[in-house]
Amino acid sequence: MRKYSKFLDDGFVLTSSHEPIIFYRRCGRININAADDWEQLHTENTAKMLKKQGVTVLRSHFHKGFGFEIERLDREKAAKLIDECHKQGLKVQTYIAFQSAVSETISVEEPGYDDWIMRDRDGHPLTLWFNQQNFRNLPCLNRDGFWENLKRASHAAIVEAKTDAIGYDNVSWSVEPEVCHCDACKKGFTEFLQEHYPTKEAAIERFGHAQLENILPPVWNYYQNHLNLTEIRNPAIQEWIEFKTTTLKHRIEEMYNYCKSLNPDVLVEINASMQTGQNDAFHMGIYQNDLANGCDAFWNEVDPEAGYHKDGTLTHKIRIYKSTHAMGKMVFTGHRWNGSKETINEYHLGIAESMAFQNGSINCIGMMNQFRVNETENLPHIPLLKFSRANRELYYANPVPFVHLYESRQSLCYSNFESQYANVLMTQVLLRENLPFGIIHSLDELSDVRTILLSGAMCLSEKEIDRIIAFVENGGGLVLTGEAGEYNEKYVGLANRSLKSRLGVARKLAPFAISFGKGRVAVFPRLASDHDFDSYDWVYRPMEESQIRVKFESWEAPHNMCQIADSIRWTLNYDMPAVIKAPEAVVSEMTTDGNTAYVHLLNYDANNPARLITITFRDNVKGAELICPLSGEVVPLTVIGGNSVAVDEVGVYAIVKVCC
Ligand SMILES: [Zn+2]
Repeated sequence: MRKYSKFLDDGFVLTSSHEPIIFYRRCGRININAADDWEQLHTENTAKMLKKQGVTVLRSHFHKGFGFEIERLDREKAAKLIDECHKQGLKVQTYIAFQSAVSETISVEEPGYDDWIMRDRDGHPLTLWFNQQNFRNLPCLNRDGFWENLKRASHAAIVEAKTDAIGYDNVSWSVEPEVCHCDACKKGFTEFLQEHYPTKEAAIERFGHAQLENILPPVWNYYQNHLNLTEIRNPAIQEWIEFKTTTLKHRIEEMYNYCKSLNPDVLVEINASMQTGQNDAFHMGIYQNDLANGCDAFWNEVDPEAGYHKDGTLTHKIRIYKSTHAMGKMVFTGHRWNGSKETINEYHLGIAESMAFQNGSINCIGMMNQFRVNETENLPHIPLLKFSRANRELYYANPVPFVHLYESRQSLCYSNFESQYANVLMTQVLLRENLPFGIIHSLDELSDVRTILLSGAMCLSEKEIDRIIAFVENGGGLVLTGEAGEYNEKYVGLANRSLKSRLGVARKLAPFAISFGKGRVAVFPRLASDHDFDSYDWVYRPMEESQIRVKFESWEAPHNMCQIADSIRWTLNYDMPAVIKAPEAVVSEMTTDGNTAYVHLLNYDANNPARLITITFRDNVKGAELICPLSGEVVPLTVIGGNSVAVDEVGVYAIVKVCC
């Protein structure tokens, strides 16, 4: 169960007007009616209209980093809107820019401002990478000053404006290669190295020498370009990643603990990227699971809309939902709709995905048009919201993962390509083959795990390998692909101590399966795809972001998908809570609350109904029905042979409910 059920209980419908007018003006993104709309925004009418639209949480502007005094009037307006929303029974989340400051104004208020911000190697202030927003500086995470300023804004939101939630935006380091080279960061990096390699011997083993004070943040040149790195083997760059993720974690936890000290009931959400297929740790100093003690929810604004596309790719946000669920956190994320009837099914699919994978939450139905509230009452999320509210027990049932995908932190932090891509592809196998799964971030507690999937997990510590070996010896299943466990947590080759050597399978080149102890192991040399791990053609490199991630066009089914899925079933001894047979565009999620089981069926080819879905349950079924959340219809299903049901057709979203 996620911790913040009070945000989920009424279906969680979010909308947002989180930028203040000063920001739109400074960006040049303003229209002629903006001043009037801005006045209208902070009125009872706005709150009443949002209420009619089923909105449960408004994300409001509050503090954008222009300065505490210059934003005082805007904050007072926000406080009035919060008050109006509370009168209508709505919750409000207040937006606070975590990692940006506008030097033009804040420097007037804060004499020490010049000492707060990130600087490049020449000492020039670093600026934000977003389009036409280079007037925003980035505060340095290793220097004080700005963070006290941020606490003042957070205090004003929580204590004075009585907000229900904080939303910290732009939670990250600056983006490589434009990272801070200020004296505090260089000194902090040296101290970090000295702390982790305190003896001469430890330093020499790691770096070949012990002159730690001379190891600087990475410096890139024309040939050694950060965009060209496939794997990160250089120990100084690895440690730089650790330094960046650690400093961000400390600042986030500092702010989180401060907010909770003011009001423990305030939800703290952070926008810390969430990009499936991108090494955020290297690019921006973010490894999301490291931040789990510093937030209650994550914002995701990047990943693709849900859909099954003509080129055979399947895009989704399911890995994000699953990963945050494993942390006990919520995801705030939006669904885009252009208002046309032709795209309404895709819009409903995105909402259905949020409902199925996050406790019936509708999530963000879209941003307001700057400060204008939508005048329409009957918005297309309403039928799904009504269903969610009327069926809370259904959405608080517990997921039934058949297998678990292990997200190996070190592999994902030190691999820009293979680990990212392999995790994308393995997720495709699980979704398309209807194998409901969970994600684990640690191998410490495996009592609920039957099969572990290692995909792109090349860097495993020997302790992790010990745990995996013991797990399989005791009857667990293991499916590994690629170079899983060939290297330790610092990307040092493990030779005859590698995972495959320990399993006695190091020399095999073809896919194969063995029994090991009481357990079963399936090994695949690779997840076969059209795209080579070392080719750039599938790398997405947008000019404005200068980041690398797996293109959404490469979210395809690997050629050996069926073989991998069959092997996964074999590791489970074909003993699964249900066997779900459905067309490839149908994704399923299974949950249970004891005597009742639910199978959510989502058709990602939303404009073409999916036909002929059969579900055979392990246990006998007393009764079954098909629920259609969009129409509210409930149709009895015939139980065949005591434990099977057949569903003729699924439009976008249907739920099979069975009593056992
Ligand atoms: Zn710095």
